[in-house]
Amino acid sequence: MIVIKDKENCCGCGACSNVCPKSCIRMQEDEEGFLYPIADSLLCINCGKCEKVCPVSNPSEAKASEAVFAAKNVSDEARMKSSSGGAFVKLAEMVLQEGGVVFGACFDNHFEVEHSYVEETSSLGKLLGSKYVQSKMGDCFQKVKQFLEIGRKVLFSGTSCQVAGLKSFLGHEFENLIAVDIVCHGVPSPLVWRKYLESLGARDLSSVSFRNKRDGWTKYRIRICDAIEQKEVVDECYLDNVFMKGFLKNFYLRPSCYKCPAKGGRSCSDITIGDYWGVEKQHPAFFDEKGVSLVLANTEKGLLMIKNSSLLLVESSYSQATQRNACIEKSVFRSPDRDYFWKQFSKQGIGAIEKTISHASKPNLIRFVAKRLNKQS
Ligand SMILES: Cc1cc2nc3c(=O)[nH]c(=O)nc-3n(C[C@H](O)[C@H](O)[C@H](O)COP(=O)(O)OP(=O)(O)OC[C@H]3O[C@@H](n4cnc5c(N)ncnc54)[C@H](O)[C@@H]3O)c2cc1C
Ligand code: SF4
Ligand code: SF4
Ligand code: SF4
Repeated sequence: MIVIKDKENCCGCGACSNVCPKSCIRMQEDEEGFLYPIADSLLCINCGKCEKVCPVSNPSEAKASEAVFAAKNVSDEARMKSSSGGAFVKLAEMVLQEGGVVFGACFDNHFEVEHSYVEETSSLGKLLGSKYVQSKMGDCFQKVKQFLEIGRKVLFSGTSCQVAGLKSFLGHEFENLIAVDIVCHGVPSPLVWRKYLESLGARDLSSVSFRNKRDGWTKYRIRICDAIEQKEVVDECYLDNVFMKGFLKNFYLRPSCYKCPAKGGRSCSDITIGDYWGVEKQHPAFFDEKGVSLVLANTEKGLLMIKNSSLLLVESSYSQATQRNACIEKSVFRSPDRDYFWKQFSKQGIGAIEKTISHASKPNLIRFVAKRLNKQS
């Protein structure tokens, strides 16, 4: 029976709760807002399946990519709606046109993030764009399996650990599955996101975009619109937005993200997609501010799909791709101010982000004295 002793050792993929034959594992939110499995020992039959599917306890070998590309969707409109170069929407359309199903992350009615699926191109919009919050998997792995077993083509997209969890849950290869993971910096806390939205006042929101390209792909904006007043309540460059600042300083990522079990080809995905940061230096003729995707073809199946797509491609290399995107293979550092952030967050909520930024900017001696005083009080 699965028991989480060290939170760094659970990425929250939900494979264990999806596989349990007694449905006795529920995913419960901890004090930081991340989901962890809790098994009911009275219902458990000690079959060991939950431990066997865990991608953290049973990590896969790292695998080199077959080919690396800078990629752009031929449609500028598709790129403007996407976070990078619109690679995902093209791959998803190809699967839907063959009568398949596409899984990915979307917002629910409260702008919390969850995994879901679409079967029509007209519904694909909800899966587009990066949502910088950990998504809840629910019973999506079981649904993926059901679709695969009746012969439908499935594209599953998610973070590398979600893809690793799915592959482990499925237990064997399915020819009709295309697994796509995103290059992943780490996922912020759903609780901090919830409190951030609350801090905007009691509002009925109509849309959230973490990657609005009004000022361009490299100067992206976070844009949140009010449903009643029909205007933006937030419209800021990511560098000025308080939620994005705390995210990029790694104050409230999931603990497993500092020791990621699935980077560097260990997700077993067919294709990895990300932002092609640095493309303006490496392939200047291909760069523009509508966005460029990085696409890693990790399997023959993935490579074939990319070659058969209408994506505009420029061949690149793994070493070039990792130059400005360390997150492809390395976990981010655990912020030395993470504990300070959570202590402040419990007292003052979202104000803790600016407080921690100002704390982090103080010289080490002052921070050391403040820590001692904090411990004594
Ligand atoms: C938390 C997070 C961190 C990221 N960190 C990096 C990074 O360090 N470097 C980098 O190059 N790229 C990173 N990305 C990926 C990048 O932002 C784009 O999502 C990716 O390049 C795909 O862009 P696109 O234009 O092809 O498609 P888009 O339409 O922009 O992307 C949609 C895809 O993103 C997936 N997705 C969106 N939000 C989530 C979520 N919360 N959880 C799981 N899947 C999600 C959807 O399922 C879909 O597959 C990150 C994305 C997320 C969500
Ligand atoms: S050991 Fe089997 S029955 Fe018990 S929690 Fe794990 S999967 Fe469920
Ligand atoms: S990493 Fe996934 S499978 Fe392992 S314990 Fe956590 S939720 Fe369960
Ligand atoms: S950094 Fe790794 S553990 Fe964290 S969400 Fe991304 S893939 Fe999962």
